[in-house]
Amino acid sequence: MAKLTFWGAAQEVTGSCHLLETDGLRILLDCGMHQGGKQAERRNGEPFPFDPRHLDAVVLSHGHLDHSGLLPRLFKSGYKGPVYCTEATRNLLAIMLEDAASLHLRDVEWENRRRRRAGKPEIQPWYDMEDVLHVLEHCVGVPYHETRTINGHVQLYFYDACHIIGSAIVELRIDEKGGHKKLVFSGDLGNPDAVLMKDPEFVTDADVVLMEGTYGDRDHRTMDNTLEELGDALEQASRDKGNVLIPAFAVGRTQEMLFHLGVLYKQGRVPQQKVFLDSPMGIEVTRLYTEYMDLLDPEDLKQVSAKLGDDPKSYLPMLTLTEDSEDSMAINRIKDGVIIIAGSGMCNGGRIRHHLKHNIWRSECHIVFPGFQARGTLGRQIVEGDKHVKIFGADFMVRAKVHTLGGFSAHAGQSQLLEWASHFKPPTRFYLVHGEPDALAVLQQKLQVKLGIAAEIPAEGTSIVF
Ligand code: ZN
Repeated sequence: MAKLTFWGAAQEVTGSCHLLETDGLRILLDCGMHQGGKQAERRNGEPFPFDPRHLDAVVLSHGHLDHSGLLPRLFKSGYKGPVYCTEATRNLLAIMLEDAASLHLRDVEWENRRRRRAGKPEIQPWYDMEDVLHVLEHCVGVPYHETRTINGHVQLYFYDACHIIGSAIVELRIDEKGGHKKLVFSGDLGNPDAVLMKDPEFVTDADVVLMEGTYGDRDHRTMDNTLEELGDALEQASRDKGNVLIPAFAVGRTQEMLFHLGVLYKQGRVPQQKVFLDSPMGIEVTRLYTEYMDLLDPEDLKQVSAKLGDDPKSYLPMLTLTEDSEDSMAINRIKDGVIIIAGSGMCNGGRIRHHLKHNIWRSECHIVFPGFQARGTLGRQIVEGDKHVKIFGADFMVRAKVHTLGGFSAHAGQSQLLEWASHFKPPTRFYLVHGEPDALAVLQQKLQVKLGIAAEIPAEGTSIVF
């Protein structure tokens, strides 16, 4: 008998974490961070609901922090075993966990300075760089489509989820005294319409499927108009004699934007003189994407370059990478004719805020939002049309023109989720995770009506046996 307990991303979209127990073996699927506001993030400092010292293995679906971000804390809390993931995920983790750790340590240092002045006791960081190194040392790279045995009786196999570079659908084949069982965990499923990534692979049999439902309640807008919208914004900005700012996530969205700009450039539709990628993390991740060209969609790549294996400068010659903060600050003096891609994607941190400070109040400038803007972020205020915003504590009037590009998402939409689920041969038990309750409820109903699948939506901390 195998037991699966849902410890995170149960009726929510972050904190992915599920525990499989079988014949004395304990395997953790993902160890994600809670994200979305102070209250959610406070949970990241709480003790784990299981003893990390008693785990035998961790299997990681992909590098996004809501799936991987608590791994350093897991090691700090005594875990010493392997972390199975793809090699690309391991390399992505090196970038993302280090970045997250330095932000966390900076926040703690800031808070302690305040506390020292107030005569209050200092707080301890939840983990440090050493714990990040432990995670990386314990990563075991598993290629797609190869079987690895975990402690004798569980076999691990990765399919390509095509969500971000290195992302995997996890299959665990369990040999127990009572027979064989198969668990499939979708991880985050990619959007087949997205550029650069291929289409998520289908799996055809399982006893239990743990499936994500982030967009269980809707389909995405089609990609067709997105390139047109972007091209129009660039032309308009050029006529207006202003800059174009593009707030973008470092993983995925930044590389997609470079690709789209490359396509437009090839069509002679980029009038700007320079494109700055002003994001150290975005630059590192872009390098990683070019290292793993074979994981990307060859049909898409053909649109920008006849030859595979090229770096983005080969299809976007005016691209300038700015890693140093001095180079970044020098961009502030340019008033016209450039495109600036910078993070964070929702403008709640990062270098984009400096560029907003210099451009948002100028009516000749344009801001292009390619990503989702969560409630409570500066990006959300801007796309919702707020006329006055605060940046670094100062008031700014929003005079720049704001464009929101539809079409982009790294997640499968509703129809694509149903398509993925339809490939499993019954009987298969479905459990929906990684989605807001409303989205999961709609997906649950669609699965029932369209495919006759009675999926369940587990609550946090509940278990199933199979
Ligand atoms: Zn993800």
